Amino acid sequence: MTETESPDLLRRFHDGFRWDQVPLLPYKEDATTPFKAISRQLLFTDAALGCELRYFEMAPGGYSTLERHEHVHAVMILRGEGRCLLGDRVNPVRAFDLIRIPSWTWHQFRAGPDAPLGFLCMVNAARDKPRLPDADELAALRAHPEVAAFLAG
Ligand code: MN
Repeated sequence: MTETESPDLLRRFHDGFRWDQVPLLPYKEDATTPFKAISRQLLFTDAALGCELRYFEMAPGGYSTLERHEHVHAVMILRGEGRCLLGDRVNPVRAFDLIRIPSWTWHQFRAGPDAPLGFLCMVNAARDKPRLPDADELAALRAHPEVAAFLAG
């Protein structure tokens, strides 16, 4: 960093998908929900913008929580490859793909077995709590063979 750089305004990128003065956080504060091998970095938040930009990364074999909620996500894959469940569709995803997750749409990200999966996620700063599927909702999802295979890992 040079003398003219302000760390609040410019945070340099480093190997390993880390940024200056951005702490590596657990994926969720509430560790009771199912997820595996995933970290979170809060890159931007601003009261006037009313949003947060986060970077999530899954190690190979890792996955995010299967959830849905009223708030929307805008996701851009930045690293690696994997798959994304969106509603009842399973999509392969790789770096620089853009994904819109609408309100109340089931979603889950899974890294492939050999590569990490890292993505930016923009979200409202004030947002509702994610809901997990109940037994009936899981059964309805698993009725789609492709989704059942995805959920089984
Ligand atoms: Mn979500």
